[in-house]
Amino acid sequence: MGSNSKTQRVFANRQGEVTLVCPNCSNAKSINIAKYRSAEIQIQARCGCGYIFEIDDIRNNLRKFYRKKTNLNGTYLRVRDETKGVMKVVDLSYTGIRFKMEKEDDIETGEILGVRFILNNEKKTEVNTSVVVKNKQGYLIGAEFCNSQAYEMELIDYLLLY
Ligand SMILES: [Zn+2]
Repeated sequence: MGSNSKTQRVFANRQGEVTLVCPNCSNAKSINIAKYRSAEIQIQARCGCGYIFEIDDIRNNLRKFYRKKTNLNGTYLRVRDETKGVMKVVDLSYTGIRFKMEKEDDIETGEILGVRFILNNEKKTEVNTSVVVKNKQGYLIGAEFCNSQAYEMELIDYLLLY
């Protein structure tokens, strides 16, 4: 096609394996991303045709496309007046969460909340971070992580493996 676009389609399965489609030769290549735990090291994967995938690009693609249904108990803290609420995280991605409040609360879009919940992975990772509210539908709140790097590797593991 003669395109120099670096856009890559990335598919992930539950074993931590992602399938990359080479933009140069269109061959599919599977790599196990679960082993790329050290975010500091720039790691590359090479296609048979010579094209080099940057793991950062792969991570960026996963961030955009991967979202997982969850059922995790947690709490939120309203920074505004320090009131707390009980919630259930109903889905999770690299960039944010969607949660259901246990009780009606007048949370507004743009509001910053502290959220705390524990992943049901082997390490029982506690996520304790800030989010900004993006949308609200009844008891359902969609929110983005203020610092999406804070739990990146844990989230990659969790989203792919559990
Ligand atoms: Zn290739």
